[in-house]
Amino acid sequence: MKYLVDDLKILLSEGYFYEGRNIVVNLQAIVADAPARAFIKSVKCHGGYFACEKCTVQGVYYEKRVVYLTDSTEVCRTDSSFRNQIDDQHHLGESPFLPLPLDLIKVFPYEYMHLICIGVTKKLIFLWLKGKVSKFRTPSRDTNTISDRLHQIYSFVPKEFNRKPRPINEFNRWKASELRQFLLYSGPVALKGVLSESYYNHFMSLHLSCRILASETFAHSQNRYASSLLQYFVTNFAILYGKKFVSYNVHGLLHISDDVLHLGRLDNFSAFRFENHLGRLKRMVKNKNNPLTQVCYRLIERQSLNFQPIPKQGDKVELSSPHWSGPLIDGSCNPQFKVAHFKKFQLGCDERDGTVLLKW
Ligand SMILES: [Zn+2]
Repeated sequence: MKYLVDDLKILLSEGYFYEGRNIVVNLQAIVADAPARAFIKSVKCHGGYFACEKCTVQGVYYEKRVVYLTDSTEVCRTDSSFRNQIDDQHHLGESPFLPLPLDLIKVFPYEYMHLICIGVTKKLIFLWLKGKVSKFRTPSRDTNTISDRLHQIYSFVPKEFNRKPRPINEFNRWKASELRQFLLYSGPVALKGVLSESYYNHFMSLHLSCRILASETFAHSQNRYASSLLQYFVTNFAILYGKKFVSYNVHGLLHISDDVLHLGRLDNFSAFRFENHLGRLKRMVKNKNNPLTQVCYRLIERQSLNFQPIPKQGDKVELSSPHWSGPLIDGSCNPQFKVAHFKKFQLGCDERDGTVLLKW
């Protein structure tokens, strides 16, 4: 981290000089999954007893794992308590980020792609499909119902989703974006009437809180409501599924609404965009020899070719897929177009891209 920290020291104190202008640089958040965060903060990793990066909850050993059962004695960690290592059981050493003028608690948010989508959502599906307790494990007949409903939804999923729903028994192969789609969109429909009421309502508390925290409009105004829903979800997780499943990720939900208050909606600090970029870098590796060198060469080639990415579309609407098959409305003329591309979405003539909700 030395080169990064040295660069950041200069950038954060002096800004960045570019073409005679001084550009102020702020560091909003360092986005990383739990093991990476623990490593660069030099703190206990997510299986440890004092691993929560936001509060001093002590994990307890329960049925061969460490679980985090919240009680009222826990205290929120602060930048000052972190720097002074007040809770010495949390720290393993000195973080290389200490010299930087940052709030070292707020700048490392809990990250929604790993914590909620791959963490808690996948765990719920695992418990429904593979759990050992019949109280919440769904019989195969009901699993088929969920998959059938996801299949029905398939033809209504618009282009803005990069993946279409797959059967739920393939959940182990679902990507993070598929788990997100299930949590935020398809899950409430697919599970209705399949899970018993208490388990369905419990899932809905997670769904609704995440919809709020992912929303530009409601992330701040309904933040405390989302926080209370998450509190309900975590408390009842132990009651419905058992204490042994209240893992680091489940406990972490208690803190994520505060990260949203500080940094804005969930996607502002999620790993999705970084994972997408890593995907692009990965595609530059053509064989297994010296992968880093291959990526460097491809990037240098792009620079030397003065590679310009396709400019992003402005507010203009672009039309594609011309046709002459009508029907024409009065005063219009051919050609007509099947697809209209807007800045953030597209409309098309087929069912999945041709339905809009209007304000009324
Ligand atoms: Zn905590």
